[in-house]
Amino acid sequence: MSEFKKKFCPNCGSSNIKWTIPQLWSIWECFNCGYRGSVVIENDELAQKIKKDYKAKQKEV
Ligand SMILES: [Zn+2]
Repeated sequence: MSEFKKKFCPNCGSSNIKWTIPQLWSIWECFNCGYRGSVVIENDELAQKIKKDYKAKQKEV
């Protein structure tokens, strides 16, 4: 059993995020939308919802 929780971008719901700056341990970067910040989502259900909303937003543009 893995203790490592999957993390998601709070902006677009992508799991394609990476902890980028070793000096600033709390900063994450999303490769999908370019989000950068300390907030990440660990809730799968919530991530799916964000992903849906983000896709809907993309269509509007
Ligand atoms: Zn993102």
